[in-house]
Amino acid sequence: MSVHNNFIDGRWVPSSSAQTFENRNPANTDDLIGVFQQSNAKDVDAAIAAAAKAYEEWRLVPAPLRAEILYKAAQIIVARKEEFARDMTREMGKVLNETRGDVQEAIDMTYYMAGEGRRMFGQTVPSELRNKFAMSIRQPLGVCSIITPWNFPMAIPSWKIMPALVCGNTVVFKPSSNTPLSALNFVKVLVEAGVPNGVVNMVTGDADVGTAMTTDPRVSVVSFTGSTNVGRQVNQAAAPTFKKVHLEMGGKNVVMIMDDANLELAVDGCLWGGFGTSGQRCTAASRVVVHEKVYRKFVEAFVARAKALNVGDGLDPQVDMGPSNSDPQLNTVMRYVKIGQDEGAKLALGGNRLDKGAHAKGYFHEPTVFTDVDPNMRVAREEIFGPVVSVIPCNSLDEAIAIGNGVEYGLSASIYTQDINRAFQAMRDLYTGIFYVNAPTIGAEVHLPFGGTKNTGNGHREAGVAAFEVFSEWKSIYIDFSGKLQRAQIDTEQI
Ligand code: NAD
Repeated sequence: MSVHNNFIDGRWVPSSSAQTFENRNPANTDDLIGVFQQSNAKDVDAAIAAAAKAYEEWRLVPAPLRAEILYKAAQIIVARKEEFARDMTREMGKVLNETRGDVQEAIDMTYYMAGEGRRMFGQTVPSELRNKFAMSIRQPLGVCSIITPWNFPMAIPSWKIMPALVCGNTVVFKPSSNTPLSALNFVKVLVEAGVPNGVVNMVTGDADVGTAMTTDPRVSVVSFTGSTNVGRQVNQAAAPTFKKVHLEMGGKNVVMIMDDANLELAVDGCLWGGFGTSGQRCTAASRVVVHEKVYRKFVEAFVARAKALNVGDGLDPQVDMGPSNSDPQLNTVMRYVKIGQDEGAKLALGGNRLDKGAHAKGYFHEPTVFTDVDPNMRVAREEIFGPVVSVIPCNSLDEAIAIGNGVEYGLSASIYTQDINRAFQAMRDLYTGIFYVNAPTIGAEVHLPFGGTKNTGNGHREAGVAAFEVFSEWKSIYIDFSGKLQRAQIDTEQI
């Protein structure tokens, strides 16, 4: 049995709590992946102290040199992609093709941020006064607390840690307790790439670790991805010390299918969007709004294709969909299946846990489709985070848009249509952070902003250059070379 430690100030150390927790395979709970530290506030204190000390040196390392370390890290991840993907499937369940994609996302982001080490543009602007120079530069903020969920165990940490590092910040990282092995793999890569002691620290554990990371006055930035409820707690915990708080939270994303849509394409997209990662993506297409003229045809094809999905261990190449990530996650799925039935939604497919034979030791659930769903039902409004898709009929684009916007979340939305006017209207009117045309609600790339509106986010975006708005702040600089006192707005210039 492997026991894994925290990583603080360049050393692998056990928690001062002397407590540990087990990490087990959700496809087979007999498979113990490893034992990790159940850390406490004292461990967080040591990690923040190390990060604060290391910051004083790291912030002065030229950004292109910091970026070289990232470049090496990307190369190491490329070399270990398959190994990391297998570890990830084993610890969180999604199928190998998807975990390879997760690792690839970390590679893409790491290369992208390595490139930014030679850009990180500021602005130079003309001064309104003669012999005066005006510019702005980005400066790091200090210690960043990085708190991540389990559904993208390497991609999401990379979206946060890579921009934080290239900007010159230091990091205390707390991964989800469901995916500490992928976090450990990631931190080991950074160590091997040459990140100096104290610049990246990892502390495993649960909410009390997170609370210590969000309340400590030495922390300047909190970047959190997870549920809306926990995000709200993080926001409140960080408020008294005025931290910059970046929140990426829940979703209830919609695919809208118009009567002129290529239905085959739409079915493909809804299968991938609804059942990819067993529905456990923040961008999962958990609502499908279909024009009544093509409703029956779509439902028939979609249910048939969903029925044919092969559910099992994600390491098996024949498997299309893995298990739910944990027992509580599976219970949430089962609870919502009952809620949907009680509300009067028609259960067109699935609805049951799979617990016989090859499924006996995992958290498996049938792909589930509710049809004739009313948009006010809870299954149509609340995030389930499982393989459950609600199909809702509509009779116009305007109605589809109203249904699409009628939830508390605003991450991703999509439309299937051949009509460019409809596509543009929907693109303009869906109040989400991400929008797709003739594609499902998933498929973001690392060089455009990623994030959502309403209860999905708090106005920030990650990925691309947008990430720098989280992990740096502006300093405006004026250099007066006139040799005399020049008073802005008072000493006005004449031609
Ligand atoms: P979660 O909110 O339960 O946990 C997220 C992280 O917060 C974990 O590391 C957890 O240990 C930590 N945490 C728990 N309590 C805390 C506290 N009081 N203070 C600080 N940290 C605390 O979420 P999860 O179950 O790991 O992930 C699923 C959720 O994440 C879904 O709601 C999903 O939509 C969301 N998500 C959002 C995005 C996005 O970009 N918008 C991406 C992926 C996942």
